[in-house]
Amino acid sequence: MGKPQKVATLLEERQKIEREIEKLQKSCGHPSKSIKSVRERLDSTTMVIRYVCDECLLSIGYPSEKEIQNYLKQ
Ligand SMILES: [Zn+2]
Repeated sequence: MGKPQKVATLLEERQKIEREIEKLQKSCGHPSKSIKSVRERLDSTTMVIRYVCDECLLSIGYPSEKEIQNYLKQ
């Protein structure tokens, strides 16, 4: 397989995976959350601290300054 075809296949694959993740996250009731360090966006390498759902790993909120301090102390 040539490089362009391979890239096209991988991009298609990624889109499929992202759709699958989105579906799981949309159908999740986010029953419990934890503070975690996560990538700001899928295509970003910037790490940010967010409340993340324990089930589907979606960022669902911003911790307060105090909660971030506590998290960083661990
Ligand atoms: Zn969830």
